[in-house]
Amino acid sequence: MHKRLFFSSLAIILITLLLSILSVNLVFQKQFSDYLARSTEETLEQLPERLSSSFLSHGCWDKDSLYDIAHSLPLGTHILLKKPTGETIMTLINPMETMMKSDSEINMGMGIDMGLNYAVEEWKSRTLAIYGPQGLLAFADVRYPARAKVLNPADQSFVSAIYQSLLLAGLLALLIGSLLSYWTSRRLTTPLQTLTHAVQRVGEGHLDEQVSVTTRDEVGQLATAFNRMADNLKKQEHLRKQFTADIAHELRTPLTSIRSYIEAFQDGVLPADNENLTIINEEIERLVELSSDLKDLNVAEMGALQPNFTHVDISELIDKTVNKLSPLIQEKGLALQWHKPDSLLIDGDEYLLTRLFYNLLHNAFKFTESPGTISIQMETQPTDILVSVRDSGVGIPEKDLPLIFERFYRAEKSRSRETGGTGIGLALVKQITLLHQGTLEVKSAQGEGSQFTVLLPLSIKEQFKNQ
Ligand code: ADP
Repeated sequence: MHKRLFFSSLAIILITLLLSILSVNLVFQKQFSDYLARSTEETLEQLPERLSSSFLSHGCWDKDSLYDIAHSLPLGTHILLKKPTGETIMTLINPMETMMKSDSEINMGMGIDMGLNYAVEEWKSRTLAIYGPQGLLAFADVRYPARAKVLNPADQSFVSAIYQSLLLAGLLALLIGSLLSYWTSRRLTTPLQTLTHAVQRVGEGHLDEQVSVTTRDEVGQLATAFNRMADNLKKQEHLRKQFTADIAHELRTPLTSIRSYIEAFQDGVLPADNENLTIINEEIERLVELSSDLKDLNVAEMGALQPNFTHVDISELIDKTVNKLSPLIQEKGLALQWHKPDSLLIDGDEYLLTRLFYNLLHNAFKFTESPGTISIQMETQPTDILVSVRDSGVGIPEKDLPLIFERFYRAEKSRSRETGGTGIGLALVKQITLLHQGTLEVKSAQGEGSQFTVLLPLSIKEQFKNQ
């Protein structure tokens, strides 16, 4: 690419140079020919009148008077003056031209006339009729140069001086252009080469790779985008590793517990009674919940989750979710504030909305110690409903707030491990809210509690329902 850029710039410079030489040549020749023809034609316009007054003043064709007229003719103009009967009266040529000729014979119709300062390439000819008061006096066959090449040494040296300066300017342009195009192409390709190298390194798994951004142009923007992408990949990779570790832990804890119970049953240390089987069942429940959380989040993030929108009684739905968790909340010694409002139908997926409020409420329960309060409020607005879940629990550190909706993110790992959870719950809450064209907000202060607010539209636009 570097070479291609360099050579194409050189080609452009050479073509420009060639075209300018050609156009100067053309313009100069044309101007000269135009000037020659125009000045001759202006003189010829007065010729019939001058010839007729010469004849009238002398009563015949006087040689001296005609010689005077020939004196004023432009160089290269030849006139054959004939009587109306066709008989030649005289040939009129500027005597200066005749003097300059080595050969005095006038060679009518030949291309180059050596008596002139230019080479005639094309002639024009016309016949003028000369009238007197008594009628036609004579005909004048006129031939004059229409297109000519400059031969005059002074004019020629002027033209070649122009060519020389053009050539000099061209060479200079070629030199400066080559340097500039070499510099520009290097400047363009070097960061691209660095970027290619960095992309290869990232491809090989070196996610720490960053490139320096030195410009603000398109290449600079590409470098910035690359850095952001590599950064993001690194973050995702870190989360993935963390998640694998967490998942292993989450799976191991209930499985180990189940295995120890079964071993105890086999050894007869513990009786396989209802109480012990309930504990095993709870552990299995936890595993089932984890796997369905994972599946739902994966599907939601791939954009393949197909919500089944129906008219859902949202106050009934929240009430059911609260009732499901209220035994646990009360058992933990927490106060629960919830007043079921009147029925209200909104467009939504019943299963997903239940997951959304269950996750928020379950988090409030997990992260609040006794004595504490959990309150749920629902407010109806003209086009939306606003549901907030507030707790007086441990709160979320400010630095973690922007990250808690990322999947697998858990603030204060050791604490979260005690409470269980994989950092999937809020990521799922966010995806479900987006699927319902809603918004989600969190306010929290460490040690004081947290408040999650979900805004859901009452009705979902048709085109989104079928996506
Ligand atoms: P987890 O399965 O760990 O609860 P979530 O995605 O539901 O995952 O939550 C992510 C993190 O956000 C939690 O680990 C916790 O640190 C923080 N968090 C969520 N809800 C609350 C809350 N009500 N109070 C305090 N911290 C919370």
